[in-house]
Amino acid sequence: MKDCPFCNIPERDIIHENGLALCFLDRYPVTEGHSLIIPKRHVSGHFQATPNEVSAIMELAELRKRSLLEEFSDITGFNIGTNCGRSAGQTVFHLHWHLIPRRDGDIEDPRGGVRGVIPVKRIYP
Ligand code: 5GP
Ligand code: ZN
Repeated sequence: MKDCPFCNIPERDIIHENGLALCFLDRYPVTEGHSLIIPKRHVSGHFQATPNEVSAIMELAELRKRSLLEEFSDITGFNIGTNCGRSAGQTVFHLHWHLIPRRDGDIEDPRGGVRGVIPVKRIYP
């Protein structure tokens, strides 16, 4: 798609690639090393992808996890996830999984992680 940023990722920005998916750095990273993994085919969200595309994305998530751990000795965890739909926070409508490295102490109390999509519900009793 002509106007889709993820259909036009420059070759030099690609970190990992397989037959159906690509991995590259997020332009506005939440933490250092924040990476995105996308299907090569333009589909809007996770539930529009085929099982083979999902599998290709997960293969690159594993590869990228390993390359991040080699690159950064201080990574102690990851958040991985995808926003499906505008109401869930999606802003680029070409499916992408976020792989966000986390480091001990990067925020004061990280409990709940992805539950923080509704900030007041992040920490449960
Ligand atoms: P969403 O809000 O759709 O889940 O995430 C979109 C992500 O894409 C954001 O984390 C944003 O920083 C990233 N992003 C937006 N435009 C570009 C771009 O042109 N290139 C790259 N590499 N990342 C982008
Ligand atoms: Zn696209």
